[in-house]
Amino acid sequence: MPGRDTLHRRYELKRTSLTRRTPLKSRSERRSTLYKNERVPLVREMLKERPFCEAERAGAPGKCFGGLSLHEILPRGRGGSITDRDNIKVVCISHNERISNDVDVMRWAYDTGFLRRA
Ligand SMILES: [Zn+2]
Repeated sequence: MPGRDTLHRRYELKRTSLTRRTPLKSRSERRSTLYKNERVPLVREMLKERPFCEAERAGAPGKCFGGLSLHEILPRGRGGSITDRDNIKVVCISHNERISNDVDVMRWAYDTGFLRRA
């Protein structure tokens, strides 16, 4: 077993300036307003209306796990709306991940309208 000495640094760490050369990318003001005024209230409403995993009810393969989350049928990365309830399903974390990562669940999701191609 190594002795206590190994816990001490042999050399001083070099101090460097922490200033960034480029600003951090942040949510645009327009996007922030959209979240605050539309998305956040919508999430609350939908979780209240449907406090269950819609994927499980619709017969998705796999078991539910984790809390509930909102899933976009046409993903936001492909231009799907995050504030249109017709584009949103309430699903558990596990089904939400599996809809995007598990081939069998993904196939099921396309067949049942839980996923849509752009
Ligand atoms: Zn589920």
